[in-house]
Amino acid sequence: MAIERSLILVKPDAVVKGNITAILNRFESQGLKLVACRMLKMDEKLARIHYEAHVDKPFFPGLLTYITSAPIVAAIFEGEDAVARCRAIMGPTNPANAPEGTIRKDFGENIERNAVHGSDSVESAKREISIYFTPDVIQEY
Ligand code: UDP
Ligand code: MG
Repeated sequence: MAIERSLILVKPDAVVKGNITAILNRFESQGLKLVACRMLKMDEKLARIHYEAHVDKPFFPGLLTYITSAPIVAAIFEGEDAVARCRAIMGPTNPANAPEGTIRKDFGENIERNAVHGSDSVESAKREISIYFTPDVIQEY
């Protein structure tokens, strides 16, 4: 296994409910290293870039309204096998199907308002990280 990076977003529902640090702690407490972090508000242009694979899906208009409704926190977690480990910590897309102890089970509301985003492959992670972070703000320690 290799050292990877994953792009994590704490989504608007979780930010508004005051769950930012509780969610970031789920990754940090599993030994994943926080190497970059910022807060921002997505706009339509950014949403269309981030969710480029989904812009033609029937759920995209609702997703767009939701993801631009309040600030998000963008973070990079680094570690062995980080992409798959972050996805496991998050749980599946629909909180109704998420195992006990996963972020989406504990903090998600429904298949749209599911608290967190995490990259689905190393390739996606590289693309997504470059949307939110320039290399000079990613820390080494
Ligand atoms: N989503 C939605 N309805 C759906 C499927 C997805 O609103 O039927 C939203 C949800 O917020 C999800 C995001 O679109 O997290 C991206 O969907 P994807 O299938 O990539 O799920 P993820 O990778 O986030 O688990
Ligand atoms: Mg996805």
